[in-house]
Amino acid sequence: MVRNLILLGAPGVGKGTQAVRLNQTFGWAHISTGDILRNAVQEGTELGRQAKSYMDKGELVSDSVIIGLMKDRIQQNDCRNGFVLDGFPRTVPQAEQLENVLEEMHIVLDGLISIEVPDWEIVKRLTQRIVCNHCGFVSTSGENHEAGTTCGHCDSGQFIRRQDDNIETIQRRLTVYQDQTRSLIDFYRQRGKLITINGSGSPDEIYLKIQKSLEISSENV
Ligand code: AMP
Repeated sequence: MVRNLILLGAPGVGKGTQAVRLNQTFGWAHISTGDILRNAVQEGTELGRQAKSYMDKGELVSDSVIIGLMKDRIQQNDCRNGFVLDGFPRTVPQAEQLENVLEEMHIVLDGLISIEVPDWEIVKRLTQRIVCNHCGFVSTSGENHEAGTTCGHCDSGQFIRRQDDNIETIQRRLTVYQDQTRSLIDFYRQRGKLITINGSGSPDEIYLKIQKSLEISSENV
């Protein structure tokens, strides 16, 4: 089953966590622009150099840079089995360019899922979030592990705090989401394919809702 999905929602609603699960269950390529940019920063490439100051401040990297890299990424072989976009598009111009690219490639989007979580819960999640620097597994500090401990998921990486997961940058990212990304909800609603999911709950619960929504395609699950 080939499926091409977009996961929409503010930072911290769980798009990455759910995209990893969809990738593991169905083999759809997980494409996270944030991960691509963070890798570029770590490797010290030209892309990373351009993106870093925006990411550190919680601002968006320019549309032209993002659109260029996504055009290449979507054409890679692993996307033929389907893909899950996580963190892209984030502006209307990005969404419009994505439509053009997909049309040229004769690819139809099967699902547009918006995950909604209240801001207070997002702030709580992100200030406690720790991420494995090797496999990207996401966890919560204080539950079983802290930043600096070994990741129990891959047994080789270490849990770290993301540089932009500090309260000031989190608040800026939420404002940027409201100002520049939230309008995509209407953009996609007008196309008649948007499914909205309440993202409060455990990752397992949300994953079940996503799977159910893909079967029944209702507006609200
Ligand atoms: P994320 O991991 O999705 O929270 O993204 C982390 C940061 O990467 C964002 O705060 C932006 O600075 C940048 N970024 C990721 N995706 C995009 C995008 N589609 N457009 C512009 N900037 C992006």
